[in-house]
Amino acid sequence: MKYAIFGDIHSNLEALEAVFEDVEEQEVDRLFCLGDLVGYGANPIEVLERVRERAEVIVAGNHDHAMAGILPLSHFNEFAREAAEWTVSEINQEHIRFLGRLPLIEEIDDLSVVHATFVSPYEFNYIMNDQQAAENFEELDTSLGFVGHSHVPMNFLERDDIRYSAAQKVELEDGLRLIVNTGSVGQPRDEDPRASYVIYDDEKGVIENRRVEYDIEMAAQKIKDAGLPAKLGERLFKGK
Ligand code: ZN
Repeated sequence: MKYAIFGDIHSNLEALEAVFEDVEEQEVDRLFCLGDLVGYGANPIEVLERVRERAEVIVAGNHDHAMAGILPLSHFNEFAREAAEWTVSEINQEHIRFLGRLPLIEEIDDLSVVHATFVSPYEFNYIMNDQQAAENFEELDTSLGFVGHSHVPMNFLERDDIRYSAAQKVELEDGLRLIVNTGSVGQPRDEDPRASYVIYDDEKGVIENRRVEYDIEMAAQKIKDAGLPAKLGERLFKGK
């Protein structure tokens, strides 16, 4: 079975469609979404609807819950707040209810998905170092955990100790547990502007980060045309 795990789409329809094409080519069986469907980009409705059609599991990101009023916008920076206010004015009540009802964490077979951390999913903290990874492995009930939120793909491997790895491919072994950050579909921040997501192949025992080119020009132009902060389009070209 092949699983695609993806998140942080942030209303970037061009990036999402490119990832879905890649998912199709890779003959993925099941799709799980790590949240932050909306915020920043210009196509919240199309992204919401396409993800709902395709993903079997969707957990809430901080932007999703902010749109539904569960999180205050005050913890966002200026650009995120402006984009959130614009998004709320675009989507309808049903979309808002849908976002507000998304669960924070889900377990499916041997894997768990959460937007930010397993320690306290509702706080939307980051897993960026070995210490934070260790705390999260303690709370993780499965051998594999997938997260997003930082928009930077990375892996933490736990055997006797905890090891950070930026490898694009990780081979699974008995006794090895993993926390994998899948990076971001719609607003990568690791200086690689290509859309980022992960495929987990449980027959081959491989987890692979995939990078997919998409029409950044178009996504940035739409951000401009929508009257959203131009910086949100410009950063897509840099991937940071
Ligand atoms: Zn995000």
